[in-house]
Amino acid sequence: MREQDKLIRKDKARLKELQYLIEMEEWIEEQYEMNYERLRLEGGHALTPEVKRQGLLQIIFYFKKMREVAETVTETEVKLTLPEQVSPNGNKFTIEGVVDIIRENNSTTMYDIKTHDADYVKANKDDYIDQLNVYTHIWQNLRNERLDGTAVIATQFPRTLKKAIDADDEVKLEREMEKWNPVIPIPFSQEKVEETIHKFACVVDNIEGRVFSPPSIQQLQERIKGTKQRFATRVCRNCDARFSCDAYREYAQVTNSFSGGFAEYISDLGNADEVENTTNTNAFVKAPPTDINDLI
Ligand code: SF4
Repeated sequence: MREQDKLIRKDKARLKELQYLIEMEEWIEEQYEMNYERLRLEGGHALTPEVKRQGLLQIIFYFKKMREVAETVTETEVKLTLPEQVSPNGNKFTIEGVVDIIRENNSTTMYDIKTHDADYVKANKDDYIDQLNVYTHIWQNLRNERLDGTAVIATQFPRTLKKAIDADDEVKLEREMEKWNPVIPIPFSQEKVEETIHKFACVVDNIEGRVFSPPSIQQLQERIKGTKQRFATRVCRNCDARFSCDAYREYAQVTNSFSGGFAEYISDLGNADEVENTTNTNAFVKAPPTDINDLI
């Protein structure tokens, strides 16, 4: 083949690839808008334009990074159910989970997609192992299916990648995309399945028995593995029950987190970004009509 023909063929392949990517991005955006509208109408919660844009970006970059997995997935949103469980106190419960399955070259892998960051997942692997082992048990023993591997896909951008996206820096972006590894393989075994199901059962008993005692103040002060944040900052500050929680109140008093005293503590609406988002969202959402005739 002449050199010229080879070049033309290469250009054509490149154009085809670009066209595919553009069409795929348009399709993702369309589906995202449809899903967002459905969830907004069902749940009554809206997002600010910026948060909505960030959500869409996360999906598009996730597709770019995980294209191979996304294109080979054989079953999405597979619902796994472990029914008719009974807790030590006699409460009946069902365990349910949703996973993605890829069957390729005689090998089956189960993926659990999480909106967490990869460092957090790696540092707290045991929690994910427990959960995936129950799903594995359902898949292998109740559904009688083959399984060769399990993994968590952590979709949250690493901080450095987010910075490159915000800065719109093509070179950095390419480098950070290369470094980003959202797939974390999780070893699976059946050894601890009974123990994990028992842990779920104890939680069910606590809920049914109205045992809701908060963790100790020491736990609130501890840093969460894989993050630089304390439990109180990462979890409690996002908890709706915090103003009626003894542990958080005690934490606020002994750590001087609220130097402005009780007034500051009781008017703390949480993380500054979240507050801004809520305020902006409310400003963007149309107020409901006061006259029923306006709805007709
Ligand atoms: S504030 Fe919420 S998350 Fe924190 S300890 Fe109290 S109940 Fe638990």
